[in-house]
Parts: sequence; C-alpha cells; structure tokens
Amino acid sequence: ELSSRFEDAVKGLRGEAKISENNINDALKEVKRALLDADVSLSVVKEFITDVKDKAIGEEVVRGVNPGQKFIEVVNKELIKIMGNENSPLNENENSPTVILMAGLQGAGKTTATGKLGLYLKEKDKKVLLVAADIYRPAAVEQLKTLGSQYELEVFSAKEKNSKPEEIAKEALNFANENDFNSIIIDTAGRLQIDDSMMSEMVRIKEVSNPDEVLLVVDSMIGQEAADLTKSFHEKVGITGAILTKLDGDSRGGAALSIRKISGKPIKFIGVGEKIEALQPFHPERMASRILGMGDVLTLVEKAQKEVELADAEAMQKKLQEATFDFNDFVKQMRLIKRMGSLGGLIKLIPGMNKIDDGMIKDGEDQLKKIESMISSMTLEEKQKPEVLAAQPSRRQRIAQGSGYEAKDVDKVLADFQRMRGFMKQMSNGGMPGMGGMPGM
Ligand code: GDP
Ligand code: MG
Repeated sequence: ELSSRFEDAVKGLRGEAKISENNINDALKEVKRALLDADVSLSVVKEFITDVKDKAIGEEVVRGVNPGQKFIEVVNKELIKIMGNENSPLNENENSPTVILMAGLQGAGKTTATGKLGLYLKEKDKKVLLVAADIYRPAAVEQLKTLGSQYELEVFSAKEKNSKPEEIAKEALNFANENDFNSIIIDTAGRLQIDDSMMSEMVRIKEVSNPDEVLLVVDSMIGQEAADLTKSFHEKVGITGAILTKLDGDSRGGAALSIRKISGKPIKFIGVGEKIEALQPFHPERMASRILGMGDVLTLVEKAQKEVELADAEAMQKKLQEATFDFNDFVKQMRLIKRMGSLGGLIKLIPGMNKIDDGMIKDGEDQLKKIESMISSMTLEEKQKPEVLAAQPSRRQRIAQGSGYEAKDVDKVLADFQRMRGFMKQMSNGGMPGMGGMPGM
C-alpha cells in the first residue's frame, strides 16, 4: 500500500541507532578533553558529563550521523541551556536610579568594564554616573576619568582624603539622586587574591548602595580558578551576574560554564578588548560552541536533522487534513523527493505505477521544475495563502513575468494545486497523502 511504502521511504532517513552507554565512549572522552582544554573546572566537568550522559542515553540518532556525533550535539544543547539559553539583560530599576556594583580581583578588568558599561547605558539614553571607589590606587581614579572622558561620562570620586569606599558610594548615590542620574556604576578595588578584607569591604559597599546588580568581573584567562573565585564572591557578597573579560584572547571561555554552574547566575556581558567600545552582550549559543570547539560536528548533525524534519510525514498529513498545505510545504516535499532519489524512483514505489515510462517521468520532472520557478517568484504571503492568487490576476501576471512563463501557465498550476489540496484532504482522511495528487502527475 502506498502509505506504508511512503513511510518506509521516510523511515530510511532515520537511523536505527540510539545513544547508549557503549556507543559514545570515544565521544565522551573527546568532550571531556574539550571542556578541560577550555579551562572548565574539573569538578564542573565531572558533574556536567554525568548529567548530560544520563540525558543523552536513549536519544535517537538520525542517518548520516553516528551516536558519538549526536552525543556531541546533545552536549552542546545542554551547555547552551545551562548558560541560560538566551542573553540575560541588565536588571534595571524603573523607579530610582539603577545601581550596578562591580566586584572582582585586581586586574580582572573592573575599571575597564565600568567604563564600557557606562557607554553601553549612555547609548541607551541613560544619564550615567561612574563612581571611583577604589581608594588604594590613586591611578584607578585617573584611569576611570580617562575612560569616561572619551564619551563625556561623569565620574564621581572622593571629595576628601581618607574617605572609605562605602562613604564614597553613599555620597555618590546622594549626588546621583540630586542630579537626576538614572544609572550608577560603582567601580571597586580588587586584590590579587581573595581575602577577607576585600570581601567585607564589598559587603559594606553593598549594604549602603543596595545595588540592582552585583556583577562579578572575571578574567577569562584565569581558567579553572574561576570556580573558587565565583564560589567565594557568591557566598560572601552575593552576586547577580558576571562579566567575562579578555575574550579577545585565546581563552576558550570555559570560565563561563564554571561561573554559571557554581553561582547559578548569568554572564551578562563579555569584554573583547581594551577599548571602551569592546563590550558585547553574552550569548550562550556562541559561548557553547567556543567552549566545545566542535563546530564541524554540530553543523553536520544539524543538517542531517533538518532533512529528517523535512520528511516528517506526520506533520504534513496534519496540514493536509486541515487544508493548510501551502507552497512552502510543497517546496519541502519536492526537496524530499530529490533527496530520496528521482521522481521516477518514487513513482515506481506506487503500486500500479511501475509500468510508467521514462518519457512521462521526464514530463513530470519538467513540470515540477516549472512549478518550482513559479513558487520562487511568489511573495511570502502568496506562498502561505495560495487563495490570494486566485483572487488577483495582477499577482498571477507578476509571477508569470518573474518566472518566465505565461499567465495561463500560472493559472493552470494554481488550479491544479487547489485541486490537489482538495484531493489530498479527502485522501488524508483515509491513508497517507503520498505524492500522487501533485500537479502534473
Ligand atoms: P581592574 O583591576 O579589575 O580594574 O582591571 P582593569 O580594568 O584596570 O584592567 C586590567 C587590564 O586588563 C588593563 O590593561 C585593561 O586594559 C585590560 N583589559 C580589561 N578588559 C579587557 C578585555 O576585555 N580585553 C583585553 N584584551 N584587555 C582587557
Ligand atoms: Mg580597577
């Protein structure tokens, strides 16, 4: 019967294999190595691999792809998911000024990121105040002023010598309120190592400034250490997100995964250079492929899966029943035919059609080419709603011109298409639609 033969043909596109414990051993090692090379912390790698393995086992593998490759695709998806799927925007306060507190080790890029974020917010029409609360290095104030001056960003610094960072923060907040600033970014001092005095200073600044964001600035080059760093800052100060800097270097960015896994908080931005403009929103998808570094495999799997989706006969059948089968679906089905071999080969699957001669098949193929070129001259609306063409001769005229045929050819194809839709709708109540009702066949 046609329906089961067609189903077999589609099934041929799906492989038989499923991911199992045994068929992904090599891929598992490869993924582990990739994550460690990307400087994801060992403990995070272990936990991640165990989780993703459990999830992947039993997943179906499509033809043209081996279980290991499919596993890598699952890993990539999981990486994206863990890192938040989408970009997580800055948490902005609608009523009072938005306060952003920068935290992190010395040299991580806090002062630079303060300037960068200032520019980012200024470009969103915010009135921005940068606050220099690093009292230990006089040069830090100068550094912030230099950055800010490039885009006329105002910098607030201590009015008196010996001010404590939390006092500066407090004064800055008052100043911002009195002068209608709506974004305040507080740059703080870091140490070379995590220490208690740095943490308690951060806590005090946090208490007086009540920030909407506490962003941990992490140098992506510190690699595995990102895990401990995040843990300390999150436990002692409490962060709301992170900025990963120096991604313009060779670092593969594994710190992103460690930060997210350990704090549960999103990376919001990445730093990609020393210049004040070099800030970008963080995109989990891009970071996942950077960390994994297996773009070729991912492309291959994606391609193979698209083809199977195209062939999803069930979805097509539903469309036919609801008479929403349109020219886009038609094109998909044609691509499927091409992938499964020739039209002739397909027709010969149909019972009673094996005596059809090659001349007739050639005619059918020519007819399909003709339709394809007409469809490519249609607008999106026309492809989705062939009815609009029936109503308006001028549209049919335009398509004829665009595809190099005559208006009467277009009329004929449309009439056939409508007839086919009706015919298929009837048929689909019983069995599989198949290709038998296509125009020209
Ligand atoms: P802080 O001590 O945390 O305030 O760090 P700084 O903002 O002073 O940055 C330390 C050094 O890293 C400076 O030389 C910056 O120019 C540099 N830097 C900061 N962010 C980036 C970045 O995204 N890429 C590169 N290449 N350098 C950066
Ligand atoms: Mg600094």
